Amino acid sequence: MARYKESVCRLCKREGLKLFLKGDRCYGDKCAFERRGYAPGDHGQLRRKHSDYGVQLREKQKLKRMYGLLERQFRSYFEKADKQKGITGTNLLLFLERRLDNMVFRIGFANSRNEARQLVRHKHFLIDGKPINIPSYLVKVGSEIRVREKSKKVERIVEAMEIVARRGIPQWLELDKDNFRGLVKTLPSREELVMPVQEQLVVELYSK
Ligand code: SF4
Repeated sequence: MARYKESVCRLCKREGLKLFLKGDRCYGDKCAFERRGYAPGDHGQLRRKHSDYGVQLREKQKLKRMYGLLERQFRSYFEKADKQKGITGTNLLLFLERRLDNMVFRIGFANSRNEARQLVRHKHFLIDGKPINIPSYLVKVGSEIRVREKSKKVERIVEAMEIVARRGIPQWLELDKDNFRGLVKTLPSREELVMPVQEQLVVELYSK
């Protein structure tokens, strides 16, 4: 599958905020955005005015990049969110949050969503007792995410669990470190999803 190949730190600079794509590095003073937070390229330091369309587009790119998705995947989440009852923007965020790679990252078994995606593909986790290696798998409330017995020594997982306290585990999730087990207690409300994203602008963009 096509993937973004350049330095992911460029994406943070492009969007003008930290997208936390590089794991623990994002929380320290080595973060490239902290050092030089303007957009990449020769004209990166110039202030640009965006049209309404430009603002909506940037908001969509920001959200898409946070979750590491390609346009087609992202759009299909929007279409599903739009068909559901309730607020489309919130529905969209909840679809993104329920992805297995996101849950693995949020619970603290990986340092970034990208790393979580690789770990999921390598079959390191059981969901409610079943091995699942599909990063886009949608986890349900009440589900248990457990590290497989043979994967408990995987350095990346152990290290991620040690340092997850630096970013914190959301209150709708639970990590039982001793048993390498995570639980989805509930789904978050919009207020609990502390993200600098205006999802309504994404809805407006796709609704044109
Ligand atoms: Fe973004 Fe900083 Fe993390 Fe790089 S290190 S991905 S600039 S937050």
